[in-house]
Amino acid sequence: MGRLQGKTALVTGASSGIGQAIAIRLAQEGCNVAINYRSNPDTAQDTQTQAMQKACDGVESCGVRSLLIQGDVSKEDDIRQIIATTIEKLGSLDILINNAGIQTEKPAHEVTAEDFDRILNVNLRGAFLCARESIRHWLDRGQSGVIINISSVHEIIPRPLYVTYSISKGGMENMTKTLALEYADRGIRVNAIAPGATITPINNAWTEDAEKRAQVESHIPMGRAGTSDEMAAAAAFLASDEAAYITGQTLFIDGGLTLYADFREAWS
Ligand code: NAD
Repeated sequence: MGRLQGKTALVTGASSGIGQAIAIRLAQEGCNVAINYRSNPDTAQDTQTQAMQKACDGVESCGVRSLLIQGDVSKEDDIRQIIATTIEKLGSLDILINNAGIQTEKPAHEVTAEDFDRILNVNLRGAFLCARESIRHWLDRGQSGVIINISSVHEIIPRPLYVTYSISKGGMENMTKTLALEYADRGIRVNAIAPGATITPINNAWTEDAEKRAQVESHIPMGRAGTSDEMAAAAAFLASDEAAYITGQTLFIDGGLTLYADFREAWS
């Protein structure tokens, strides 16, 4: 029996990358999954197909259910509809994975108000509103719940040319801690995962260029980028009762990127 048997999770932005891997891994652990996507039904369908294959391991029906839900997490009405549909169609909601995220590269002095709002509306406001709607549901039902925010090493490492992204993930760190503290006594756990450089579509600019990839990986103490499956394994753990006493934490999964690697050479 999987660690998440009988639970139901919503994964935002689950049609690619880390969100896709998390949806598949949670299903493999026995969890029902609502797969949110914004604009690509085909890759969302691919997530669902893989999730059900892993969940049922060749058996036609294994009790795990899944659902595709279109919706844009920068829109409050869409978020309400995504959460309501999850509960209506899958019967409950126990785990929220705030994964949807975008970034843009621009010098800070060229960032417009529209750029700022666009990034923050998805990465931070969207994550907060998904959390708020989930918490309302859990409080109404008097049930426990788990939120996992997919943050980034850039919640603590400043990233030039990505100020809006860095701000959004810095805010996510505080949101994780504040919500964790506010609802700790009501059985709601809130944690974050902070991936380092991970091979997903958001990083096509360097993952598909051998020279650039080597350059990125040269800064990682373990010498390689991470995989979506490595992030998904951590998400499954944090979502499970094995992490029952963990709340308000960010788990950095970064091959040592946040360990100040320069100290290996500079002061030895
Ligand atoms: P990705 O581009 O494959 O995934 C992002 C997903 O979010 C996509 O499926 C996209 O369609 C979805 N999305 C974007 N805007 C949305 C919206 N308004 N509504 C609903 N969905 C929306 O990249 P990824 O690397 O898998 O990113 C997933 C998360 O991981 C992001 O929050 C990202 O910031 C974070 N992260 C990634 C890395 C990395 O190196 N790949 C590192 C640190 C953090």
